[in-house]
Amino acid sequence: MKINHLGIATKDISEALKFWGDALGLENVHTEVVEDQKVRVAMLPIGESRIELLEPTSEDSPITKFLEKRGGGIHHIAVEVDDIEASLAKLKTQGMRLIDENPRIGAEGCLVAFVHPSSTNGVLLELVQKKEV
Ligand code: ZN
Repeated sequence: MKINHLGIATKDISEALKFWGDALGLENVHTEVVEDQKVRVAMLPIGESRIELLEPTSEDSPITKFLEKRGGGIHHIAVEVDDIEASLAKLKTQGMRLIDENPRIGAEGCLVAFVHPSSTNGVLLELVQKKEV
């Protein structure tokens, strides 16, 4: 397993890129709207991982709620797994609370599923299985 990305919530990706891109020097290699999650994402590689900037695309986006409550910050941590179905089944048998019982399609066609913060010491955890190439 490895950290696939860190998700950071922001009101405005272009505003956030002034820091993460221009000032810090990371490169935005990919921008995409993920309709299913009502977010626009920007991916900035850092080592073998990435910073994922998340901007809400609608009022009822989960990111809108997060920004209202906390004004931005780390929204989730994404762990890359080889077999997301197996990982979900394993967590479920151990009584862990899943937000997604079944994987959904995330950015770049990856399979993703979220684990509830109540089972992870308060961190929203995303499992990611890369799309087969
Ligand atoms: Zn993510």
